Amino acid sequence: MAQRQFDTVTVETVQGDIANQPDLGAIVSAANAELRIGGGVAGAIHRAAGPGLEKECIPLGPIRPGKAVISGGHNLPNAHVIHCLGPVYGRDEPSDQLLASCYRKALLLAEKKGIVAIGFPAISTGVFGYPIEEAAAVTLKAVVEVTPSLDAVRTIRFVLFSDADKAVFDEALMAL
Ligand code: ADP
Repeated sequence: MAQRQFDTVTVETVQGDIANQPDLGAIVSAANAELRIGGGVAGAIHRAAGPGLEKECIPLGPIRPGKAVISGGHNLPNAHVIHCLGPVYGRDEPSDQLLASCYRKALLLAEKKGIVAIGFPAISTGVFGYPIEEAAAVTLKAVVEVTPSLDAVRTIRFVLFSDADKAVFDEALMAL
């Protein structure tokens, strides 16, 4: 695990499954606009949460790129799921600002709920095609810009599916 402290917040990276992070108050989904089950991160989260999650989510959608909404965690060990719609790379512009907005909005929602520890996947880097190096730089910059204003959130964990993606996030984290 790589870790750095920014103000009162620990930012860390792990290799793993975002749907299996039992010590976090909230996990973030790389959602589709309709907040339906889908594949990738959203599929893993919905499968672990059970059908109640989709039932709660559908009335909250559709959402626009860069936006986030919050739901309960249902059968997950986490109290909340925050659903972000990342930009499709090369289509939703400006993609860097929309990607940064996902992280800012998710952290604002977490603050409002008093969530202490939150986990993020690498939003937009799967089927939405955002190159992992660019995404890591935009993502970590966005998160670190918000840390001075966080009162509740104390841990921000990036859960990367592959060792290669974790190595890219580690490098971007140490470069900040
Ligand atoms: P998007 O549609 O926003 O691109 P995806 O779900 O397709 O979202 O993928 C986002 C990133 O999450 C990709 O890097 C993918 O490898 C990774 N990923 C897929 N499943 C999981 C999982 N269960 N836990 C953590 N990361 C995952």
